[in-house]
Amino acid sequence: MSLFTRDVTVCVLSSGSAGNCTYVGDGHAGVLIDCGVSTKQILSRMAEVGLGDAPIDAVLVTHEHSDHVGAAAVLGRALAKRGRPVPFYMTRGTNEGIPDPCVPDGVELIEAGRSFRVRHLLVEPIPVPHDTRDPVAYRINVGDAAVAVITDLGRPTALLARHMRECHALVLEFNHDEEMLMEGPYPYPLKQRIKSNHGHLSNAQAQALLMDGLGDHLHYLMLAHLSEENNTPTRALVAAQRTLQDGGAFGRVDVKVCLQRTALPPVRVQTSSW
Ligand SMILES: [Zn+2]
Ligand SMILES: [Zn+2]
Repeated sequence: MSLFTRDVTVCVLSSGSAGNCTYVGDGHAGVLIDCGVSTKQILSRMAEVGLGDAPIDAVLVTHEHSDHVGAAAVLGRALAKRGRPVPFYMTRGTNEGIPDPCVPDGVELIEAGRSFRVRHLLVEPIPVPHDTRDPVAYRINVGDAAVAVITDLGRPTALLARHMRECHALVLEFNHDEEMLMEGPYPYPLKQRIKSNHGHLSNAQAQALLMDGLGDHLHYLMLAHLSEENNTPTRALVAAQRTLQDGGAFGRVDVKVCLQRTALPPVRVQTSSW
């Protein structure tokens, strides 16, 4: 056996309350995490960033909210038509919660905490606190590289931090600035839902999780699921940079703010395997 190296590509195609989708792959195998924007947008944005021919071997669904699963049925049919029918991995609770018109063919049930393989990609579903039936975040290991997509959670957890410490690239929720949320236009019950332990991570909570989960390997940090009403890219970025500075990682970690209407340029993590 010989050592080989290859790049793991991470590309956030869309992120925010109007739809989420991220691609992770190494040229030989790849997955989409969530499909909350239209199939047309997913495929055209992949083509725009040079991933038009990148393999899609599975879709990993985090939970049943429509901004994560809205395109599942249509995307499944489109990929099958291209000659690649793909499984949609999700927990039993997520499967039960998906609105009927969105249910795709080829659902594969998974359990939080139990890893599985999509070809040679090792996928670890990690439970997260969010107001759905059985939501998860995903960590994907390719060779010695690890990537995690962590959004839609109401509070940091020690388990997430433990996984994050081993990651080279992170897509991490920085949903809202608490002050902006409380002074903003949302009705009080919605404010309470977002702030709750099963809502979304504030910038301050994301900072706490990042500090706890900051590992030596981290090189790429993508700030995700920003609220357009209750946050600004600058506030999220300043918060993340401050934490990286406090954690002694400033300058080592490339930080980007994910966008709703356009894909981020793909980042590439080098991995080696025997
Ligand atoms: Zn969401
Ligand atoms: Zn959600």
